[in-house]
Amino acid sequence: MSETSMITPTVDFDRDGLQFGALRVPHSHNRSAYGHIPIPVAVARRGSGPTVLLTGANHGDEYEGPIGLIDLIRTLDLERLNGRLIVIPALNYPAFLSATRVSPIDQINLNRTFPGKRNGTVTEMIAHYVESVLLPMADCAIDFHAGGSSLNYLPTLFAPRSDDAAEREKLDRIVAAFAAPRTLFIDGGRAMSGEDRVIGAAARRNNVFFLTGEFGGGASVNLDGLAVVKRGIAGLLAELGVLAPKVPLAAMPPSRRLVMDGPGHYAFAPCSGMFEPAFRLGDEISAGQLAGVIHDTVQPWKEPVPVTFGAAGVALCIRTFALTEAGDCLGHLGRDE
Ligand SMILES: [Zn+2]
Repeated sequence: MSETSMITPTVDFDRDGLQFGALRVPHSHNRSAYGHIPIPVAVARRGSGPTVLLTGANHGDEYEGPIGLIDLIRTLDLERLNGRLIVIPALNYPAFLSATRVSPIDQINLNRTFPGKRNGTVTEMIAHYVESVLLPMADCAIDFHAGGSSLNYLPTLFAPRSDDAAEREKLDRIVAAFAAPRTLFIDGGRAMSGEDRVIGAAARRNNVFFLTGEFGGGASVNLDGLAVVKRGIAGLLAELGVLAPKVPLAAMPPSRRLVMDGPGHYAFAPCSGMFEPAFRLGDEISAGQLAGVIHDTVQPWKEPVPVTFGAAGVALCIRTFALTEAGDCLGHLGRDE
């Protein structure tokens, strides 16, 4: 730990058993001079197995992760644990409480602010705590996402690409154990936009095995995605030897392995207007196929502007809002590995 965090946990990460508490983020404002924001945290420890950090609502308007993680802790059988679970259902808790992607306090996107700042804003302090306190304790971390308010996803596990044979073997075992219907292999240290200020980059700096994924979207709860999250957590923890399942896990079909090639797999709005999509989630798209058209809202009788996908693949993500500004992501594809 380079600098001591400003955040104080009410749990003891080294104590055996199951504890519930809070990560207290100092927050002094007009109605609370000496106050703090209590981010709920659960810690379960027994035996000498690995430590797994599980987080949800890094973006405040994504719900399959939080619900899956609450379920994990509420149904946890401590006798089956060998290791330590650190579970934070809503990492950006102020954003979660306001159902927004970014924090209502400082307008910062937590997953674009790593490594954070010890004496920064509320969101920067949370990022700094994850990077300097939580990740150094972890062997494996998984951060559950969804498309938030503006995007909708087919439930998809995101796993890191690797050229190392031994690492790939471990990765393949974990991907099979998680048993998502599809897995997109990405640069784990970057966001889909190429950003490296994400929690995955923090995990890499801490040499922590890291998984993420998109399990729904539209600021709602995707029941298929929630089932994938619950089955995935059980499979992952069983494979790591951290938590033995109560009942044998049902066999699942192999995960469809996908990658993305770059800009051709995205559709971005070239202008503002009203987006009328020409595809649905799960559609198999060919190169050059129409993604949709954008209608002019000032001169609605004008010919709409077509937007196409530059490469072929399956539609993994689509924009939820019809009203669009230039530069907005309208959707993206993945192709078979
Ligand atoms: Zn997210």
